[in-house]
Amino acid sequence: MAQTPRRKRILSGMRSTGRLHLGNLVGALWNWRDLQDTYDCFFMIADYHALMSEYADPAPIADASREVTLDFLACGLDPKRSVIFRQSDVPEHAELHLILSCYTPISWLERNPTYKEQLEQLKNKDIHNYAFLGYPVLQTADIALYQADVVPVGEDQLPHLELAREVVRRFNHLVGRDVLVEPQALLTQSPRLLGLDRRKMSKSYGNQIDIADAPEVVRKKVLSMITDPKRVRRDDPGHPDECNVCQYYRIFAPEECESVARRCRGAEWGCTDCKARLADLLVELLAEPRARRAELEAHPERLADLLADGARRAQAAARETLDEVKSLTGLGKL
Ligand code: SF4
Repeated sequence: MAQTPRRKRILSGMRSTGRLHLGNLVGALWNWRDLQDTYDCFFMIADYHALMSEYADPAPIADASREVTLDFLACGLDPKRSVIFRQSDVPEHAELHLILSCYTPISWLERNPTYKEQLEQLKNKDIHNYAFLGYPVLQTADIALYQADVVPVGEDQLPHLELAREVVRRFNHLVGRDVLVEPQALLTQSPRLLGLDRRKMSKSYGNQIDIADAPEVVRKKVLSMITDPKRVRRDDPGHPDECNVCQYYRIFAPEECESVARRCRGAEWGCTDCKARLADLLVELLAEPRARRAELEAHPERLADLLADGARRAQAAARETLDEVKSLTGLGKL
């Protein structure tokens, strides 16, 4: 009987740095939720990646992993259909990372544009460590362990994936067998969601709305959003195309966008009214994830079981790859 070909696999993950925000929801989680219909998905809570920058104060990482897991589940990642696991629960990641690091020229890592950018941006952290330089190798191991065919990425992440592909090609070439799958990019066009202050939404700027924020917190944050700087008084006509609040409508309530723009241009309502309506919409949007989260938080043993099951399933897949890699690199059974 002919074997059914396996569905294509996807690996993606988030670093364990705490609760996820609306930028993560729009930029990744909605997409991942939908990809579950088409692909076999592995979703990773990347705590080794968190340790690379948080090593000086690592205590919050465990709690952050829990928060990321809760947000994954609250936003529709389904442990019955996908493998949801914490990276450090599958030690094969560290093992393949070490093996692949032997096959990765240092110059490839030093020329990585994101590495240079991060050194510039994370000035408050000392990330001049060996692990941080090598994080693309760990990313390659993350992907290659599961023989992931595709990786959902935004355009800005393409150089990372290209580096992973180069490492895989070099490894396959040197061991003389296509043992690791060369991953392809699945380019995702996510709308760009800025933070409350119009900078990139980021916890480090404190300008984010968390998925788990309580309704009163969401309302307070939305009311603090920076609007069209040219609209000074209530009866000044506004410029919705230049207003971040309007961009939120575009993403979260496109059906209201036209009337918002009309009322703004005609000074028919004030920015406070406009933001109050947006806050209502966001509170409504986040009600379901919040309820799912509350349910899971009330049963911590379920979360632990679920992660244990995820680790078991991830490890079974990872082990197959690693055994083959080890047998080709002189590290297999004697
Ligand atoms: S009315 Fe709304 S869209 Fe117009 S400037 Fe104010 S907040 Fe922005």
